[in-house]
Amino acid sequence: MKKHNFYAGPSILTPYTIQKTADAVINFADTGLSVLEVSHRSKEFQAVVDEAVALTKELLQLPEGYHVLFLGGGASMQFCMVPFNLLEKKAAYLNTGTWASNAIKEAKLFGEIDVVASSEDTKFNYIPKNFVIPTDADYFHYTSNNTIYGTELRKDPDSPVPMVCDMSSDIFSRVFDPTKYEVIYAGAQKNLAPAGVTIVIVKESALGHVSRPIPTMLDYRTHVKKGSMFNTPPVLPIYSALMTLRYYKEQGGVAEMERRDVEKAAILYDEIDRNKLFMGTVAEEDRSIMNVCFVMKPDYAELEKEFLDFATSKGMVGIKGHRSVGGFRASLYNALPKESVEALVAVMKEFEAKH
Ligand SMILES: *Cc1c(COP(=O)(O)O)cnc(C)c1O
Repeated sequence: MKKHNFYAGPSILTPYTIQKTADAVINFADTGLSVLEVSHRSKEFQAVVDEAVALTKELLQLPEGYHVLFLGGGASMQFCMVPFNLLEKKAAYLNTGTWASNAIKEAKLFGEIDVVASSEDTKFNYIPKNFVIPTDADYFHYTSNNTIYGTELRKDPDSPVPMVCDMSSDIFSRVFDPTKYEVIYAGAQKNLAPAGVTIVIVKESALGHVSRPIPTMLDYRTHVKKGSMFNTPPVLPIYSALMTLRYYKEQGGVAEMERRDVEKAAILYDEIDRNKLFMGTVAEEDRSIMNVCFVMKPDYAELEKEFLDFATSKGMVGIKGHRSVGGFRASLYNALPKESVEALVAVMKEFEAKH
């Protein structure tokens, strides 16, 4: 039976990425060696990094003055690297969920943190609006897509200070204005590559302004200077990332991904709103196009397990909601085909007809 992969992360990759990665595990760039066993400093692998950097710049339309890094440590490492490198006195943070809270916790180790707004009081089921960002903050940090709760800021906020964004789960799914940001980071395992690499975009002019000493490995300047090769980078995930980037370009780039993602999300949200058994969990205007969270309506709450079993029996994988939200979460990353969304909708309709 065909499986439909709705996992939140690590998550579905394009068949192209999987096939090309598998090929390179056997024979990388006609070297007769596996990509797993060649030097990261070989000219063949250097070409991989160079092309991945160039394609990221092209797809995200990064202007001059931005560096693209491929680092280890996950997005979670960026929660401390960002303030280590950018926070001198005070920074502003928007609290929209677990990942944002984790980022705030780390930043507090480095200076004064102004949490400009939080939706924690209602279990992060909306994005706060009309918050005021202090003009004396070194930067404003937010999480563009809240993977666990299914809310998303789909427009660049207005900020009087430069922004830093955790785009782990929606990078390459929507067009944004990079010039508003000093740092953008994203763990690759949601919309790009296998786990192990984090893509970090840093604006050159943002660096070198803090007075504290920064450990070598945590200093962005180290990795900028060495082109992500200060130490051994995660070679396999970087190789896969390049394959995905090539695929995105070939398919029409980020704008085309966005068009498809918006269409896929609309199909599922329309069914959630129509189906008598289900309801969405977040404010309609803040609904994520990447992670769609929904629950059984109160009258049908006892059917939750039955639906999960039914959907699983029909090939749906990874739709159990995060333990902090419950219900269901279907992640509709770029690599997920529209047919999978349609298959899930068909299962929801069939289940409705049985009840
Ligand atoms: C998954 C995720 C993280 C954590 O990423 P790691 O690479 O596991 O550290 C951080 N932020 C967001 C928005 C995420 O979705």
